[in-house]
Amino acid sequence: MITHGHADHARSDNEQVLATPGTIAIMRERYGEAAGASLQPLAYGETVTVRHVTVRLVPAGHVLGSAQIVLEHRGTRVVVSGDYKRRPDPTCAPFEPCACDAFITEATFGLPVFRHPPDTREIDKLLHSLALFPERCHLVGVYALGKCQRVLALLRQAGYQEPVYLHGALIKLTELYESLGVRLGPVLPLSGIPREALKGRIVLAPPSATADPWSRRLPEPLVAMASGWMQVRQRAKARGIELPLVISDHADWDELTATIDEVAAEEIWVTHGREEALVYYATQRGYRARALTLTGFEEDE
Ligand SMILES: [Zn+2]
Ligand SMILES: [Zn+2]
Repeated sequence: MITHGHADHARSDNEQVLATPGTIAIMRERYGEAAGASLQPLAYGETVTVRHVTVRLVPAGHVLGSAQIVLEHRGTRVVVSGDYKRRPDPTCAPFEPCACDAFITEATFGLPVFRHPPDTREIDKLLHSLALFPERCHLVGVYALGKCQRVLALLRQAGYQEPVYLHGALIKLTELYESLGVRLGPVLPLSGIPREALKGRIVLAPPSATADPWSRRLPEPLVAMASGWMQVRQRAKARGIELPLVISDHADWDELTATIDEVAAEEIWVTHGREEALVYYATQRGYRARALTLTGFEEDE
């Protein structure tokens, strides 16, 4: 059972996969035949029984197709959140809180210092910079799955209708989102576009590419990056990011704590990030809470 398509959650070479149709499409795109021998799609809200356990997938609001896994057996309900956020995202279905007996939450930004600003404000910063420096190409680092498409959708929501140029590594998943009905406006592949034509344009590229010698062929590149980690100034500085944009696909501290209180599960397991503060918070609130240590996970943000 796979919550979503990020590589630290969806791996290749599975025997049997149960996931939303969106996640299965993403896994097929990334892994081809190696996604798994049998891929079983389960739409949001539908149920299936696996060895006496009823399984249902509920939107997690993280990326397209992302789901919480709801497991029920003899009147006990366990919810595995996967990665999630609570803010509206035009590219995926919103998180649905699900009352349960045990809730397994992520904790990527599980410290009280992490409070993400409104994404509209961050997109305005980018558009403001573009107006201030019309000669410079704005190169924005984005993850290929989720962040790229969300930044596109947010730009369109803010009224930006110019074509956005995409690094080759971002094209396939963006096309997949479009084919699944997410409207992202005019996008063009970057390859073959003359240097002069990229003045005052927005180029999206994977975070690693923003530091590449590759980027020097762009006209006076102004390097931005869209990530929840951009709240940590040293990280932005160390990566040479001139314009940090705090746009996260993970819940911040307020969203994590609000969610714990909303699902009101007696038992809270915390994983995938900074567990201690959230375990402490939940314990103070009267829940039984503990860190669930998983091996071999890498952060996707
Ligand atoms: Zn993820
Ligand atoms: Zn993750």
